[in-house]
Amino acid sequence: MPSSNPVTRIFVISGPGGVGKGTIVDALVSSDPRLWLSRSWTTRARREGESPNSYVFTDRESFEQRLAAGGFLESTEFLGNYYGTPTPEVDDGRDVVLEIDFQGAVQVKKLFANAVSIFILPPSWEELKSRLHNRGEDAPEVIALRLQNAADEMAKASEFDYVIINELFERAVFDLKAVVHAQRLKYSAQRRARADVFDA
Ligand code: 5GP
Repeated sequence: MPSSNPVTRIFVISGPGGVGKGTIVDALVSSDPRLWLSRSWTTRARREGESPNSYVFTDRESFEQRLAAGGFLESTEFLGNYYGTPTPEVDDGRDVVLEIDFQGAVQVKKLFANAVSIFILPPSWEELKSRLHNRGEDAPEVIALRLQNAADEMAKASEFDYVIINELFERAVFDLKAVVHAQRLKYSAQRRARADVFDA
């Protein structure tokens, strides 16, 4: 559990579907061995071409069992499917990264006041619409629901600590790395990580 390890930080990354957050988060985590990416459970079917490792794909019954046993840090129902963050088991000091939806981020912030929340925005509403249509993954009615959700969430982006605009992929990854790096430079973090310097 991250709460029992004072060194572990939680980064919660959210943003509307189609904004490209998965790719940005993958770029961040693969470049930083001190980060541990949580893999969510979902009852949604795997999309064509989607990696079997992108989620733990499960059925409603198994999900509900785990939920009843208190095995999720947070969970939500989105477009008729369950999604949940299994309680993290990493205890080696790596920081935990959660890529979850808006509701999930709010739940995590309530549980861990120190969690750092980051919201990823598309450069424009038109761009988000065309990305959702062009990725060709969802039926038109699902796209309409996603857009409605996105509008509701974007209106509440102020609840997040940081906002990153995914206009240019490299820039967005740079911004996200900067947020992570800045947390490690905080006095309390430096005091813990480099006690030798302070003690001297
Ligand atoms: P998708 O079906 O497109 O993979 O994901 C739909 C939404 O669910 C996305 O906004 C994604 O970030 C969110 N999501 C994925 N895993 C979790 C989770 O464990 N908890 C919550 N609350 N949302 C999640």
